[in-house]
Amino acid sequence: MSRDSVPAALQRRVRKRAADRCEYCRLSQVSQEAAFHVDHIQPRHADGLTTPENLALACVSCSLRKGARTHGEDPSTGDHASLFHPRWGRWEDHLDVTSDLLIAGKTPTGRATVARLRMNRPLVIEIRREEALRGRFP
Ligand SMILES: [Zn+2]
Repeated sequence: MSRDSVPAALQRRVRKRAADRCEYCRLSQVSQEAAFHVDHIQPRHADGLTTPENLALACVSCSLRKGARTHGEDPSTGDHASLFHPRWGRWEDHLDVTSDLLIAGKTPTGRATVARLRMNRPLVIEIRREEALRGRFP
């Protein structure tokens, strides 16, 4: 079952629920050329189901960097930590946006997610600045 095999109606439901924003880095789909992915949070090969509870809207960068991973390393401790799960946790409980538009992890899960998905690359920070000027970030 490929990513494209998520039924169209379910993809629309996931996009609407996410308000067309990446559920990991909060980038808006608006003005992004590449269509965001409807991502299996728990990968299919690990029995992740194609259900609303296991799907998240992810920008192409977050989707490809997450891939089938569910865990990463908290760079502040070196400990193994689960990645942020958009259905099981609130974004604000694990992640924050700094005044200079970096995404900061507040918990081991948040820090592992920021590191694994490389959320603070210079190019993406530039995109966030442009989006902030247009009122679309954070
Ligand atoms: Zn993203």
